[in-house]
Amino acid sequence: YQAKRDRSGVEVYEATRDGNTPDRLGLLGDLRRALDAGDVELHYQPKVRFDGTVAGLEALVRWEHPERGRVSPEEFIAIAETSGLMPQLTEYVLETALAQIARWRAMGLKVPVAVNVSPRDVHSPGFAGAVAARLARHGVPPAALQLEITEHVMLEDPQRAADTLAGLTGHGVKMSLDDFGTGYSSLVHLRRLPVSELKIDRSFVARLVVDNEDAEIVRCTVDLAHSLGLLVVAEGVEDDETWERLRDLGCDAIQGWLVAAAMPPAETTAWLRLRHESGWRRPGADAPAPS
Ligand code: C2E
Ligand code: MG
Ligand code: MG
Ligand code: MG
Repeated sequence: YQAKRDRSGVEVYEATRDGNTPDRLGLLGDLRRALDAGDVELHYQPKVRFDGTVAGLEALVRWEHPERGRVSPEEFIAIAETSGLMPQLTEYVLETALAQIARWRAMGLKVPVAVNVSPRDVHSPGFAGAVAARLARHGVPPAALQLEITEHVMLEDPQRAADTLAGLTGHGVKMSLDDFGTGYSSLVHLRRLPVSELKIDRSFVARLVVDNEDAEIVRCTVDLAHSLGLLVVAEGVEDDETWERLRDLGCDAIQGWLVAAAMPPAETTAWLRLRHESGWRRPGADAPAPS
């Protein structure tokens, strides 16, 4: 884990060769400084079940650049990945999320929090042990943390990825397969990856109501996942109709702007306090959602 960071000079060179501009390198330097200064934040987006109960939260990184304003995670995560900064970013995100989980638990708010990790992390030796040590240091039970991975972890050295993931699940950390359907040969990965949850990518959810093919893809994915004993979460749910279709298709939980966008910690605490007892209710629904 440490060795990767020490080699960052070499990896910056590679990034340049990949077509990275001075602009990207400038952003990289700014990101490194922002991480050192603690200027990167985590926001949290709820995952809710169809009966309104809260299934968990997903931590999403947010960076407000002093001159450019908010830089999208897609952009700076790609930079971190090709430059060797990923281990530092992931350490930061895990530290911040675990400290927050511990605070919420102390308030009696016990919801699992999911953290996104990159293929880089899963391929770095010692990652599983490092996560376990961090959990112990924060006094957070492993089941309170979930890690979201994508099929990309299997692109390079699938054996090492499998070993790391087995190590993590061995410690009791739950794994979730993110962006499902956007990778390649998904079915093979589903069988090999020790995940307990599958997240259907927003690209299939967005047009679910108007596109029959997307609806069929979602139906098959839900059935397949259930037959493998996995929970299914749909990403990017923005409206009531989509919510209803997903419920009818047998999805287990949803995440999306219909429920809430990712919120800063204090707002998330307030949101959780409200929903902890009464659950989440659709704005349009005049009765609590049927369970
Ligand atoms: P993701 O893990 O698939 O996260 C879901 C993305 O969908 C988030 O974008 C979220 O804000 C957005 N989203 C949620 N609900 C809706 C909705 O109803 N409609 C629409 N249009 N979008 C919605 P975000 O926060 O920009 O993150 C983008 C990606 O960046 C994430 O995709 C994840 O792959 C990556 N990412 C974010 N935070 C981290 C992190 O801490 N570490 C790593 N390695 N990757 C991260
Ligand atoms: Mg995710
Ligand atoms: Mg996703
Ligand atoms: Mg995504």
